[in-house]
Amino acid sequence: MKRDYICRDCGIDTNKGKDNFYGVTEELWNKYGVGKGMLCLGCFKKRLGREFTREDFVPCVLNYFVNPIVRDIINPTEEECNDLRKKNR
Ligand SMILES: [Zn+2]
Repeated sequence: MKRDYICRDCGIDTNKGKDNFYGVTEELWNKYGVGKGMLCLGCFKKRLGREFTREDFVPCVLNYFVNPIVRDIINPTEEECNDLRKKNR
């Protein structure tokens, strides 16, 4: 269903481009997220009400390798990248 990718707050299609693919901790998503719905990165940040820190994001392929914005925030070390590659093998 295409609808699932629509940001619940601003209505953009989060499936376009890579900037809105990300994974935050369960704690944050339970508090500020929209359950099984989607939020673009900008709207999630608005709900959060502060700048992101690397601790907000979980180690996953989306955060480390796909989304350039999140990757910049996390700035994963070589070791962290290797750990993740191993896990996904
Ligand atoms: Zn949005």
